[in-house]
This record gives sequence, C-alpha cells and structure tokens, in this order.
Amino acid sequence: MSSDSVLMLNFSYEPLGVVSLQRAVRLLFANKAEVVHEAGRQIRSARNRWTGEVAAFPLPSVVRLLYYVTHRRKTVALTKKNVLLRDDYKCAYCSSKGGSEMTVDHVQPRSRGGKSSWMNLVACCAQCNGRKRDRTPEEAAMALLRRPHVPRFIPFVVVKRHTMPNEWWKYLGLYNVGIEERIS
Ligand SMILES: [Zn+2]
Repeated sequence: MSSDSVLMLNFSYEPLGVVSLQRAVRLLFANKAEVVHEAGRQIRSARNRWTGEVAAFPLPSVVRLLYYVTHRRKTVALTKKNVLLRDDYKCAYCSSKGGSEMTVDHVQPRSRGGKSSWMNLVACCAQCNGRKRDRTPEEAAMALLRRPHVPRFIPFVVVKRHTMPNEWWKYLGLYNVGIEERIS
C-alpha cells in the first residue's frame, strides 16, 4: 500500500473507498472531511517565502466525510468476476473451489432461452462445465448445490492486502466490505 492512500468513510462511517492523499487533504482543507485516524507521520508544506514558516500536519490514514453521500451505486454489475465473487469461487455443482480459471455456467442453457442474469448464472469449474454442456441440470443429472441470488451491494476497496494499515480493518470489517487485491 502506498503511503499516500487514504480510506474514505461516509458520514455514517461506512467505507466508501480509497482516495489519494491529495484528495483527502483537499476535503480536509475544505472542511468536508475530518481525520479519523492519523498515519503517524507528518506532512509538511513548503516553506513560506515571507514568514519562513513550515506548516506541518498529521498525515491522515482514515478520513470521514462530514456529509452523507447518498448517490452511490446500489446494484452490482453483472460480470463474470462478480458472479465468481458472489459464489466465493466455488463450483455450484461440485463445490470445488477455484481461482480465475473458474467458468460461469448458464443454469438454463442459452440455447434454451436461458438469460444472462444473476438468477441464471453460477460459478462452475471447468470439469463440471465440460460435463454439463448445453443441458439443464435435470438433463445432466447435476444438482445445483445452491440457489443463485441477486447479490447485495458490497463496496469494494482495492488494496494490497498485506500492506493495508491495521486501522482500516476495523471499518472494513464492520460493513462487510470486500477486499479486492491489487496486483502490483
Ligand atoms: Zn464442479
């Protein structure tokens, strides 16, 4: 995690995402946010050319907006990755857990008018996908182990997990925020 990343919380303390230090500082100076947790280091301004003074203030690690953000995305985009995340990368037919090699299966096959929707898509391992082909679960005698559902919106915070500041966990855990690891 680069030291210039700041966790931004809503007025309600709900995590909204990760912002740059520059953006966090702009919000602080505009009195639109407050520091909830300091990073333990200081940031210094350039020396004032007339007074010779150097202003120093603590580097924020977590800031909280002083107003409530209501215009948020409330639905989850229907993507392969999000279907896999909803299903925790577990095959709907055999429960084996995989990674990015997992496929997404149309429960009711497309060739039978099955739609690409949350209710008709499930995570599926390559082996089960190859076995099921374009058949219904009944025809393939492959029982669905879980019922697909439309996922609740979960804000995602993109971080490098192992370098995330400890104080962030408190806020992310409270609100069931998904951690999407950033590969660097
Ligand atoms: Zn499987």
